[in-house]
Amino acid sequence: MRDMGITVQTGEPAVAISEGAVHTPTGEIPADLVVLGLGVLPNSGLAKEAGLATGTRDAIVVDRQQRASVPGVWAAGDCCQSMHIVSGRPVHEALGTVANKQGRVAGINISGGYCTFPGVAGTAVTRICDLEIGRTGLSEREAADAGFAFVVSTVTTTTVAGYLPEAAPVTVKLLAEKGGGRLLGAQVIGGRGAAKRVDVIAALFLAGGTAEDLVGLDLGYAPPFSSVWDPLQIAARQAVTLLA
Ligand SMILES: Cc1cc2nc3c(=O)[nH]c(=O)nc-3n(C[C@H](O)[C@H](O)[C@H](O)COP(=O)(O)OP(=O)(O)OC[C@H]3O[C@@H](n4cnc5c(N)ncnc54)[C@H](O)[C@@H]3O)c2cc1C
Repeated sequence: MRDMGITVQTGEPAVAISEGAVHTPTGEIPADLVVLGLGVLPNSGLAKEAGLATGTRDAIVVDRQQRASVPGVWAAGDCCQSMHIVSGRPVHEALGTVANKQGRVAGINISGGYCTFPGVAGTAVTRICDLEIGRTGLSEREAADAGFAFVVSTVTTTTVAGYLPEAAPVTVKLLAEKGGGRLLGAQVIGGRGAAKRVDVIAALFLAGGTAEDLVGLDLGYAPPFSSVWDPLQIAARQAVTLLA
């Protein structure tokens, strides 16, 4: 963001907002528009008052059919917790993609059908100006917290064949479990087409995919889309070497 000419001030709390300015302990920042990005908490007060069990971050506890702890009550979306398919731990993942899928599962079950929610992989994508960022699975800290021993492979290459004018840098970070090489997490940051690459890893999680599986995966290739070895596979090759 700094490279894009954006001034970034971290560790500096906003103590007040007045017309035309945000006030911090070190001074005043002029502002025409103030956007608050304060994180998300589940709105579970009503559910708690009604006696529903809550768990991580006070999110409503549900089973795989999205049933809450009180019979006849279902919950879906930002208010409830999910199971992480990599760590096996309950998490609060407040994303529209999760809410929609859980809503579908709850709706099918409420109307007498049978459907289950498989859990979340922690997949998220965003873009800052031209810079795409994607993540799935566990970060290094999350993997360590969950008790995994793992290798970290980080490579920087290009989004498409390096000789094309639109080629932009892309950095891939892969986490693979020591021993079998099971994929635990991935983060991708780079130019156009970088972020959604994490979807391949998210799909592999469901199959318990390893770094070696990723190396051999038959991904599409033509110069405008990637290099012959997709950036993910270059990172996976390095992970296989680190695991040896
Ligand atoms: C700025 C922004 C950008 C986002 N971008 C993305 C994105 O790019 N990708 C992504 O996956 N997710 C994104 N999200 C997250 C996504 O919007 C939420 O995860 C999703 O909307 C959650 O759906 P929900 O139905 O659980 O909750 P909500 O969409 O919040 O709906 C809950 C509804 O319940 C109503 N309500 C609350 N209390 C009561 C009550 N007591 N009685 C009656 N009604 C009540 C609320 O008014 C609201 O209409 C974004 C969120 C924000 C704020």
